[in-house]
Amino acid sequence: MSIVVVGSVALDSVTNIHGKIEEGLGGSAVYFSLAASLFTPVSLVAVVGRDFPDNFRALLADRKVDLTGLSVVPGATFRWVGEYTPDLNRAITLDTQLNVFKDFKPDLPVEYRTAPTLFLANIDPVLQLEVLNQMAKPRLVGLDTMNFWIERQREDLMKVLRRTTILFINEDEAKMLSGKSMMLDCARAILDCGPETVVIKRGAAGVSLFQKGNMFSAPVYSAARVIDTTGAGDSFAAGFMGYLTREDNYSWEHLKRAAICGTITASFNIESFSIHRLHGLRTDEFSGRWREFAAMTSYTTTPDPL
Ligand code: AMP
Repeated sequence: MSIVVVGSVALDSVTNIHGKIEEGLGGSAVYFSLAASLFTPVSLVAVVGRDFPDNFRALLADRKVDLTGLSVVPGATFRWVGEYTPDLNRAITLDTQLNVFKDFKPDLPVEYRTAPTLFLANIDPVLQLEVLNQMAKPRLVGLDTMNFWIERQREDLMKVLRRTTILFINEDEAKMLSGKSMMLDCARAILDCGPETVVIKRGAAGVSLFQKGNMFSAPVYSAARVIDTTGAGDSFAAGFMGYLTREDNYSWEHLKRAAICGTITASFNIESFSIHRLHGLRTDEFSGRWREFAAMTSYTTTPDPL
């Protein structure tokens, strides 16, 4: 069981209350790949320029991420510059340079095309569609996006959404996409556009999952030391999709467990700038935190307090 992911591979410059990092390894597909590799093999589809450092490539290869689908072309790697609000809940984009992504035409290696899971990480929806069209028949298609694409390429995004199984989206973007203001109304409107499940991420307030007739919410793991929240959404989706792919079971009970896997995975990612914490993450660390989270959030429904 493996996951194919298409998304950005980036050099990120990030400033927040804890400090700054210049041109660190980042990008939606990078955070996703490193985090999902804890659960299942991952195959990456993306493009970088010749300026992409060899040691960054090695960090992905260390976690056994299949890089056959990572093209290297003349030109500059994608760059993103962001600054966070003091509560670290919101990134303000100062600059986005698509660079080599502008002309990227993915051609998936044949061995990628039969994977059961496809994750369309945050990138141009046209590119997401091209990758989707090359896949044989994925059982599970996850999609992430952001305001940048909702504003610029809404029509293309709606085409992808029609063929998506699970949409991951943050609260503000869910409002922007649906034109609604209450969370339940946003979820209902988005469910009408195609996906079976919508996952609305609410930063430090946790996540909520919606299907027609089902709803579940989970808090964040609040004991994590929050240093940099970049990639929190991608690593959440990675834990979520990684768990489902590994289990090959898409029942509502499994989706709820997947949300907790995502929550725990993201809680490690935010403990460092760039990908450092994810890169070194061990399965026993994950398991320890899973048990701690269960203890923090479980309660008994009997006896009824009234
Ligand atoms: P997240 O914090 O999970 O929303 O994702 C942060 C990552 O998204 C950063 O590493 C950026 O390089 C990447 N990113 C930012 N803007 C874009 C964009 N317009 N398209 C693709 N990736 C982006």
